[in-house]
Amino acid sequence: MPVPLLDLKAQFQSIKEETMTAVLEVIESQRFIMGEQVGELEQAIASLSAAEHGIACASGTDALLLPLKALELATGDEVITTPFTFFATAGAIANSGGKPVFVDIDPDTFNIDPDAVEAAVTSRTRAIVPVHLFGQMAPMKRLQAVAERHDLRIIEDAAQAIGARQKIGGEWRMAGELSWASAFSFFPSKNLGCWGDGGMTVTNDGELAARLRLLRTHGGAKQYHHEEIGTNSRLDTLQAAVLLAKVKHLRDWADRRRKQAAAYDAALGAIEGVTVPPVHDGNEHVYHQYTIRAARRDDLKKHVSDLGIGCAVYYPKPLHLQPCFSEFGYREGDFPEAERASREVLSLPVYPELTQPQRESVVNAIRKFYQ
Ligand SMILES: *Cc1c(COP(=O)(O)O)cnc(C)c1O
Repeated sequence: MPVPLLDLKAQFQSIKEETMTAVLEVIESQRFIMGEQVGELEQAIASLSAAEHGIACASGTDALLLPLKALELATGDEVITTPFTFFATAGAIANSGGKPVFVDIDPDTFNIDPDAVEAAVTSRTRAIVPVHLFGQMAPMKRLQAVAERHDLRIIEDAAQAIGARQKIGGEWRMAGELSWASAFSFFPSKNLGCWGDGGMTVTNDGELAARLRLLRTHGGAKQYHHEEIGTNSRLDTLQAAVLLAKVKHLRDWADRRRKQAAAYDAALGAIEGVTVPPVHDGNEHVYHQYTIRAARRDDLKKHVSDLGIGCAVYYPKPLHLQPCFSEFGYREGDFPEAERASREVLSLPVYPELTQPQRESVVNAIRKFYQ
């Protein structure tokens, strides 16, 4: 049975009426730029991530870039991040004028290792950008302790983790709640995706929120009056309307992703050659990806793909080894866990609409490979 890695057509069929009604309403109003739905979405996303302010923008990349710009990094200022992430994380750091400084990851969760972060702090370090990879939050309490000791800002890359939570001191805290700024992406394949590009920064810092609102509209609070040089990075009203209709389903979709993951854990955990993704204590994973480690990964990937089953390697080349960052002098062997992960990981279909027979075909294909 063919199984796509993600089935957005199935999702659309399940929410067609409500999304089409919402979109038609925007079209009737012809208010495509900064219509009222944008502000409504900003409130909805801020509230679901327990932050005070939401500032919508054109992409998840810009949702990272704009707060990094607000840091006003000087040449040589360093921002510590993980090499095992989507390119945008480090790209945004470089584009804001900062120097990305990579540190290794925790082999269980694939998230940044807080001890490695602390060891990499120098007099030029300004910020930490942890990524909540695949939908499980990085260890925020330990990262906050490092940030406090060295007076650093934390900007969360929460592009894959909208709705994820972590228990700190007995209380659930949301992805986006705990840092100076946090970035969400509404790229179509994300857990909350729109029908094009979109993103949002959330923050509890009112001054930063005001600054981000300026930066996304050419640095001007009043039309034709510019306090600083910003850019054009708004979220279309049409996209906001789609997201407002979809966000009502987010919690249910995350529950269904967790159920898919639990079924995979039970079935795949028994196969020698496969390591299922551990969830660290006090975490509620939202499974943007369900990512196993696999012996003979490339052969498994070919076997599974040949059977018409979608799977993908996120990410095949860690960022410290990317040609565009060669000036920083990293070498193969610098971050053994990130490098090993890039050789061993394979992400499997885990979307809410995945049926039981589809999931069983994925499991059977993997079981057959290792027999
Ligand atoms: C998707 C993603 C981004 C960038 O989001 P876009 O909306 O595609 O610009 C940044 N970081 C991570 C970890 C992502 O997965």
